Amino acid sequence: MTIIFMHHDIIDPDLKKKSGFYGAGAEVYKVSVRTFREQLAGLAAAFPGQAPALDGKAPFFLTFDDGGVSATEIVAGLLSEYGWSGQFFVVTGFIGMPGFMSASGLRALKAGGHCVGTHTVSHPDRLRALPYAHIKREWVESRARLQDLLGCDVTSGSVPGGFCNRPVREAAIEAGLTLLMTSEPTTRCYATAEVTICGRFAVLGRDEPKVAVALARRVHARRIKAWRWHTLSVAKSALGPVYPVVREGLLRLHA
Ligand SMILES: [Zn+2]
Repeated sequence: MTIIFMHHDIIDPDLKKKSGFYGAGAEVYKVSVRTFREQLAGLAAAFPGQAPALDGKAPFFLTFDDGGVSATEIVAGLLSEYGWSGQFFVVTGFIGMPGFMSASGLRALKAGGHCVGTHTVSHPDRLRALPYAHIKREWVESRARLQDLLGCDVTSGSVPGGFCNRPVREAAIEAGLTLLMTSEPTTRCYATAEVTICGRFAVLGRDEPKVAVALARRVHARRIKAWRWHTLSVAKSALGPVYPVVREGLLRLHA
């Protein structure tokens, strides 16, 4: 079984406002370059000769949410040191804005062998609570934008806020997505004829590098899973009302 990691920006603390979203809700996910390097080195040492993949056999897979510019400026280079590739989920409404990847950056990612998927147009934190037509529009328009930019079929997405319910799933299927990733810390994937839904384990900025290896090795996996789920739930309930306001501020800055 493959454990799927969910990263966001890989960036040093003093530069954390330079890539991706910011505000308390976003910053807990930003991992320093040094820690990420150590995570990769730990994973490479623990699983020699095994590259990250989504084939059900590889021990781990790496994903990166939001589309912050650290993906092209930092992450791609670090992964290439190992010959590894990852999957990047992009908020299409922010493409080309300060701190976010440009269209050419996205094309470079794809040319470098990475996968690109959608993370909606506007990153609604409570996507699942929106009217169905709005949810569907988020998937349809973001997928179309990426397909336009990349010149290929885009069939994967990750859910902003991490939680998937029936409308989110159905709208994604109607929009043409066949792979959805959530933030539920599980290695189980739920597959129907139309879509596969996979959970992921969030890697937080405060995590020691060895946490990634321990998770991939299933050492203390149950304890870490329980703790991580609790942490995310508390963070979301505590920061939920703040996060959109922070993002509004960001949009104003970028206007
Ligand atoms: Zn996100």
